[in-house]
Amino acid sequence: MKQTTTETAPPIEQAEPIAAIATPVGAGALAVVRISGRGIFEIARKVFRKQGDPAFLFSRSKGYRAHFGSMHDREGLIDEVIALVFRSPNSFTMEDVIEFTCHGGPVVVKHVLQVLLDEGCRLAEPGEFTRRAFLNGRIDLLQAEAIGEMIHALSESAFRTAVTQMQGTLSKRLESMRERLLHSCALLELELDFSEEDVEFQNRGELDEELASLHEELQRLIDSYRNGRLLKEGVATVIAGKPNAGKSTLLNALLGEERAIVSHTPGTTRDYIEECFIHEKTLFRLTDTAGLRETAEEIEHEGVIRSYRKISRADLILYLLDSSEENLSGEISRIRQFRDEYPDARMIVAANKTDLAADASERVQMLRRETGCEVCGISAAKGRGLEGLLHLMASMVEGLDKLHDASELVTSLRHYEALRNASDSLDNARLLVEGGEGTELIAFELRAALDYVGEITGKVVSEEILNVIFERFCIGK
Ligand code: GDP
Repeated sequence: MKQTTTETAPPIEQAEPIAAIATPVGAGALAVVRISGRGIFEIARKVFRKQGDPAFLFSRSKGYRAHFGSMHDREGLIDEVIALVFRSPNSFTMEDVIEFTCHGGPVVVKHVLQVLLDEGCRLAEPGEFTRRAFLNGRIDLLQAEAIGEMIHALSESAFRTAVTQMQGTLSKRLESMRERLLHSCALLELELDFSEEDVEFQNRGELDEELASLHEELQRLIDSYRNGRLLKEGVATVIAGKPNAGKSTLLNALLGEERAIVSHTPGTTRDYIEECFIHEKTLFRLTDTAGLRETAEEIEHEGVIRSYRKISRADLILYLLDSSEENLSGEISRIRQFRDEYPDARMIVAANKTDLAADASERVQMLRRETGCEVCGISAAKGRGLEGLLHLMASMVEGLDKLHDASELVTSLRHYEALRNASDSLDNARLLVEGGEGTELIAFELRAALDYVGEITGKVVSEEILNVIFERFCIGK
């Protein structure tokens, strides 16, 4: 008799039932409370009554089914709700999941959650649903982190990058690198097993070539972090310059222009303030520093120190000066000094108050010549030249706008560090191969590289790292 076999994955071991509000706090049209885990169908049965079907059982419901009904606690009706059923393994966590959609008032939502807790669910920890999705193999760690990044994305570009990572392109690339490393490792370990016979399963020339090619791939990813970080976190831009150059005026003008203020972090007036705006899809984090000058006054002095600290970490320095000043030689030497001191930051000189100088364009030319910097003539007070300045700012983060769809962009410090470590291990391995060193040492370095790459996708990961990652999520995600 002909037999057919269907391959099925082993059932997911469901963890204890958890519940959380999945939508933002506050009043809204609708809100969602979700539960996941062992025994949730039984818990839900106690609090939900399906309309027109008093004998309804969730345990008999098919997956992806919505049931209209009402929710009750011991005191009576809470709300009319829709219960959406996902059966394991076809849910986000891969466990049994129900999402209750109720009316969006904060009190209603709290009652819906409470009755589920009363009947046996535990309140979910931040990111616990996503953590379960990772632990059950639904997504890898990189994708889990991308979900967090997507939720917190402030700019279109950060959002796009997160969405792409969520789809797993970078994960696939890393996985293929891991497989190649594993292959080389396996051959070397085979050699170790046969060490007495002095055989070489892995030709050293070929191994060296393979390691060089892997190293190159790693390096490409490592290099992408510079732009990846800018896309995700925004371009840290510092407005520097002497007091009265017009820094606050410029900050207000830029923010007014863009109308997309997404955060506000006021410091003291002598400290600095940070505001964000989005221009051409790129997030700029703009800091107005305290006036840069020597001062005897203690608080102001502290402000100046902080300004310099900010400048030293900036991606982009916007040096503002009053171009109507009689003598600009002091500013010119200060700009040159800045360039020497902060060689990693990109720099734009904004020659302000062009409305006050009749020979403004000659002054701009002169500044360009004398400093070798990009110089843009503006009048912050009159709103002149700001378009040009914004354009220059966007072009300074070169190519960033073209990276929005970049699928293999490293945006997280954790991934960047793991890649650097993997690259160092490969470097070591190559030196050992080239120096004709023993198999054991080479295999050791390759194993290390393998583990570092595995850390990114979560193939090799400690409880501690998981805690750090998921703590940053909100409850309900
Ligand atoms: P900050 O100390 O660098 O923050 O400078 P402020 O933004 O407080 O500006 C100092 C003074 O310069 C204020 O009186 C501003 O109104 C004035 N100011 C700023 N920008 C311009 C400009 O483009 N043209 C003119 N005429 N005055 C300006």
